[in-house]
Amino acid sequence: MLRRRAAVAVAGRSVSRRAERDVSRTQTPVHVGGFADSHVHLGSSAFTDDVDAVIERARAAGARALVCIGESPEAAERAQHLASRHAGLVFHTCGLHPHDANEWDPAMHPHAIREAAARGAVAVGECGLDYHYDHAPRPVQRQTLAAQLELAAELDLPIVLHTRDAEDDTHAMLAEASKAGVRGVLHCFTGSEALADAALAVGWFVSFSGIITFRNWHSEALLRLVPDDRLLVESDAPYLAPIPNRGKRNESQWVPHTIARLAAARDVDAASMAALTLQNTRTFFRLPSPSHESVS
Ligand SMILES: [Zn+2]
Ligand SMILES: [Zn+2]
Repeated sequence: MLRRRAAVAVAGRSVSRRAERDVSRTQTPVHVGGFADSHVHLGSSAFTDDVDAVIERARAAGARALVCIGESPEAAERAQHLASRHAGLVFHTCGLHPHDANEWDPAMHPHAIREAAARGAVAVGECGLDYHYDHAPRPVQRQTLAAQLELAAELDLPIVLHTRDAEDDTHAMLAEASKAGVRGVLHCFTGSEALADAALAVGWFVSFSGIITFRNWHSEALLRLVPDDRLLVESDAPYLAPIPNRGKRNESQWVPHTIARLAAARDVDAASMAALTLQNTRTFFRLPSPSHESVS
């Protein structure tokens, strides 16, 4: 663990070890310039009380694009409101998370996704396959995902894909998506190099979260194998806060820690990595050009 010299210098007097740790843990010591958070659940109940402050802290830290995930029709509606309140900074998606695949209603969910698309949703999702938790039966997860892939093709939107412990079926799904001409991102990717390769081969992107800052991260090679133009970063907040904030409610303002970690693994500077992944976020989700962003 690095010593926290800055906290001591700022304090200018002796502080308890705990206070020193608390000060340093709430700072954003990594300044990388403009960056994007390609996946954040700002509609989560974890942010009900202070979502505007969370967005402002992200903006102050350099965030230029926040893709707010609508993983249920209710979350998608909150995402839409946030996107209209913070136009040019926050963007919204709509889909159904694999944990809730049981709830898929063919009379309701496709309608909600089409409506969200008509109001400017930038992707379908997050959707996918989670065989780690198995909250819904696997065949139901596959059907619900297939229905969302069809909608993505119909609406000409990319897919935000959650995949965990489901590599064989994700390979099969990638083949289907590729046939249908659907682009996507493997979000919060923790899978194998083989799965990343398969996604890259059909034109997909790979997104890394704060998990890559954890000490038990499994593969340096994975951080290097994704080409520059297919790389995204994300918070997945309120979950998975990167070190040094691990265990706290996560916020987009801490994505720079993940960017710095990825930059180090790829031997580039963090500001370049921030600029690259910001540009990739704009390209992947077809966000409006920066000149249309609101200025603050
Ligand atoms: Zn996910
Ligand atoms: Zn998520």
